[in-house]
Amino acid sequence: MDVIKLRSACEQLLPLLDDVVYSKPTSKFLLSALLEKTIELINSGHTSDDLMFTAEDLVSLVKTGTYDVGQIKKFKADHYKGTNDLLDKVNELKKERNSSSSYFKLKLSDTGEKGGSKKHHYLDFDEIKVDISNKNDNSTVKRDMSADIYYEAIQLPKPVWYAKPFMSIELTHWRLKLYFIIPISLLIIAYYLLFSSIFSPTSKEVINLTLFASFMIVIWKPLIPFFLVNDRRIVIAPKWMLNLKQVTAQLESVKLDKLKSNGRPYRKIILVIYEADCPICGNKVVIYQGKREFKGRLIGECNESPREHIFSFDHVKQSGNKLR
Ligand SMILES: [Zn+2]
Repeated sequence: MDVIKLRSACEQLLPLLDDVVYSKPTSKFLLSALLEKTIELINSGHTSDDLMFTAEDLVSLVKTGTYDVGQIKKFKADHYKGTNDLLDKVNELKKERNSSSSYFKLKLSDTGEKGGSKKHHYLDFDEIKVDISNKNDNSTVKRDMSADIYYEAIQLPKPVWYAKPFMSIELTHWRLKLYFIIPISLLIIAYYLLFSSIFSPTSKEVINLTLFASFMIVIWKPLIPFFLVNDRRIVIAPKWMLNLKQVTAQLESVKLDKLKSNGRPYRKIILVIYEADCPICGNKVVIYQGKREFKGRLIGECNESPREHIFSFDHVKQSGNKLR
């Protein structure tokens, strides 16, 4: 499940709830809480596998206090179908009001009871006609049917605490200026120090140049992905931003709705993890920086056969083809 698409769908349906005439207030309350909670879980870095609710969780979304098994069953029997019917109505309203060709339908699904584990409920797509993700809002992208592999943004991970100020940076106003001023100022300082140590090579000038060069080596490498992402739109996120359990993540530059005076959209840098299921063996395909013949590209590598099951990665089409 793609969390960016799911969050966008929940955000689009939530305001429509008030406009739907429905006689069961508890179902309305439950659906509203379910949409809000799903958005909250995605924003706090949960993976698509975590966006699940047991029947007990559903009760606690709308009621306080503790409930026994019988009461939980009764709650579900009374309100679950109503909530699903209401969701259908909201989907319909969304379709009616949507002037563009983009269309999706959300439904309530469940995992079933497997091996004694509890049944879990979750919001899922029943139908997506075209891509509804915000990042491609002005240029809806159809799923490439000839692709070998399909990627999904499975998580908007929470970075380590010291990386938080760098997260979800909206490059607008002063932030945008700073984003360009930092590298330009560093370049000017570098030129100044270089020329002053060439033309008047005193020990002070040489020490300054050496200190500046060491500072750049330490600072530049961890920060360079933030500058590369503006050109390349998606890069591998630096390791220092990630929690230990995260193997790899990507920094992506996504379009915002606001337009600059030159007509181009403002952008935002987000931390995201794209993954896919390997079409050959069914294991996880994770995104890495390509090496050797794939230098300069991001590629999808299968966890179980990282040398043979290798795929291209197009983050706009969210698909790829076998490279080897
Ligand atoms: Zn594989």
